[in-house]
Amino acid sequence: MEHQKTPRLILFTDIGDTIIDEGTEIRDESGTVIHADCIPGARETALRLYETGYRIVMVADGTVQSFANTMRENGLDRIFAARVISEAVGEEKPSQRMFGEAMASLGLTEADKARILMIGNNVARDIAGANRFGIRSVLLTWSKRRSFEASSPDEVPTYRIAAPKELIPLLARLEEEAAG
Ligand SMILES: [Mg+2]
Repeated sequence: MEHQKTPRLILFTDIGDTIIDEGTEIRDESGTVIHADCIPGARETALRLYETGYRIVMVADGTVQSFANTMRENGLDRIFAARVISEAVGEEKPSQRMFGEAMASLGLTEADKARILMIGNNVARDIAGANRFGIRSVLLTWSKRRSFEASSPDEVPTYRIAAPKELIPLLARLEEEAAG
């Protein structure tokens, strides 16, 4: 087996329609998500990245309990180094506070921004939020629930993938480039 070097890149990730298929969500009467399935390939990709040594931070809009439920149900509890959730922060993406808290959760500083990638499906929240914060963005276009058209330069992603598993070769390429 080939020895794998500790990854240099740090991953921030959205959940809804990035890891979880929002079309499968079932909510209780209070609106808490009590069941949801992953997007095909998302669970395997997330686990593989975690096992490779990537530090992964959840940066998601919703309630703490909803994400606790769906991550536990899908066996993704252990992959997150930290969870930054809008309910707890009091603001939603593209709020810069969401991204700032994600950096702080890992003790990262300005100098680390070049190593961070934000993955999401929403150009107004995930992509614009990341771009304004000064980190690179990856748009996942698997879900067709919303438009991917950028209404401002802020909403143009750095990279674009059509399926979760495409993240693996993208990261391999970026790690290689970073290693020079
Ligand atoms: Mg989303």
